[in-house]
Amino acid sequence: MKVVLASGNRGKLKELAATLAAVDMDLVSQGDLGIEGAAEDGLTFVENAIIKARHVCRVAQLPALADDSGLVVPCLEGKPGIRSARYAGESATDAENNTRLLADLSGISLPPAHFYCALVYLRHATDPAPLIATASWHGRILADARGSSGFGYDPHFLVSGLNRTAAELAPKDKNRLSHRGQASALLLEMLRHHP
Ligand code: IMP
Repeated sequence: MKVVLASGNRGKLKELAATLAAVDMDLVSQGDLGIEGAAEDGLTFVENAIIKARHVCRVAQLPALADDSGLVVPCLEGKPGIRSARYAGESATDAENNTRLLADLSGISLPPAHFYCALVYLRHATDPAPLIATASWHGRILADARGSSGFGYDPHFLVSGLNRTAAELAPKDKNRLSHRGQASALLLEMLRHHP
């Protein structure tokens, strides 16, 4: 069955396709179908994932899968949150976002934080019962960057229970432990039971 991934990100397509290989799903990206992104004006990751999936369902007339993720720092009232990709400005780089995060924390030592991922599967644009899988990955924010793997806030995210940042993990270990990896595994179970 053809399913559109509501993201232009090839890395995500690859990661999700690997996890979802166990179900009969031919994932194509919205970029490959020439579909523009939706305006993400929700206030939560789940709302934004639903908005993205519904937009793609409407335009492509196919089932859609969307993911929305980011970093949540409770002592910053949940920031960077849904603005994680654009925390330091609309076209901010990962380095600029990390600099802003550390500036906001202004010396608070090792505050708890978690990455959060919402994955939404809509069978059609008016599907009243979407499949929604969410997961968190807990850790603390480390002022000094460590590691060169991964992306985004990974070099400053010290994983709970490991003396390693997310950027010091091999990709396959990160995929197994991460918010996205956990949410994909949950969604896979849901798809098996409620296709
Ligand atoms: P998006 O869901 O691809 O838009 O990701 C939102 C933003 O959250 C990314 O640009 C990163 O800044 C951050 N983010 C999400 N997942 C991760 C992760 O696994 N590691 C580091 N940063 C992440």
